[in-house]
Amino acid sequence: MRDCIVCQTAEHTKQYCHMDQQDYVRCDQCGLIYVDQLLDTKKLYKAYSGDLIKSYRRKLFAPIRKFHQYRNFTSGMMRARRIIDFTAKQMTTSAVDIEYMDIGCNRGFLLGAAYERCWNPYGVELVPELMAPFLNTFPQYRTQVFSERFEDTRKKYLHDEMFDVITGIDVVEHFEAVVEDLAGIHSVLKPDGVVVFQIPDADCQQAHDRKCEWGALKPLEHLHLFTKGGFEKIVRRVGFSSYEVFREFEKADGNFVTVLRK
Ligand SMILES: [Zn+2]
Repeated sequence: MRDCIVCQTAEHTKQYCHMDQQDYVRCDQCGLIYVDQLLDTKKLYKAYSGDLIKSYRRKLFAPIRKFHQYRNFTSGMMRARRIIDFTAKQMTTSAVDIEYMDIGCNRGFLLGAAYERCWNPYGVELVPELMAPFLNTFPQYRTQVFSERFEDTRKKYLHDEMFDVITGIDVVEHFEAVVEDLAGIHSVLKPDGVVVFQIPDADCQQAHDRKCEWGALKPLEHLHLFTKGGFEKIVRRVGFSSYEVFREFEKADGNFVTVLRK
């Protein structure tokens, strides 16, 4: 079995659930639930585009659609403003021009809410069609939204201590190389910057009660599901000195929110 990335051993790891031809295993020491054998990246990314018809329709309409034409635009923006309001309250910087990055920016609602606050938004999103309507409406950000893995973007386009704020909402569970990605996030964060994540809680009641039926278990997309304590260990190992836990933005399948500082 693959080592638990928190405990760096497979000594406490046991078979957990078999689904979609994949094995989830669980480390009994830190509670991490993880996919044992990671598929190659191409297969994983295919899962993100959704079913064929949906993906085809999206590709067809994305080039002409505008950001505000999303059917759920109002509710999407309301949720995004709540998250950005929370994030703004965590900030201690005195900077006037806020440099902001949303990892896994999806359709760009958080970037839209950040734009309303006059922050300078950057985003990373693996499925390019998702961001097309946002970029049709805000073409000035075409060079600040990237469609690839965060670490690839970081190496090519970003520099150290670049961002005041970084968010990753429901995205850490998708990372293949969690330690590398977190270390990269740490390096592009300014010394007084702040990171806000929402991630599924492998220790939540639903996870215990529903076991293999837990909604957060999707082995092609959710590769590592952390407990609060396990995530703290890994985050401190890459150099964050402050780790706080908050209530989730939305309950969904049992989430928690963390705020990290250097
Ligand atoms: Zn562990």
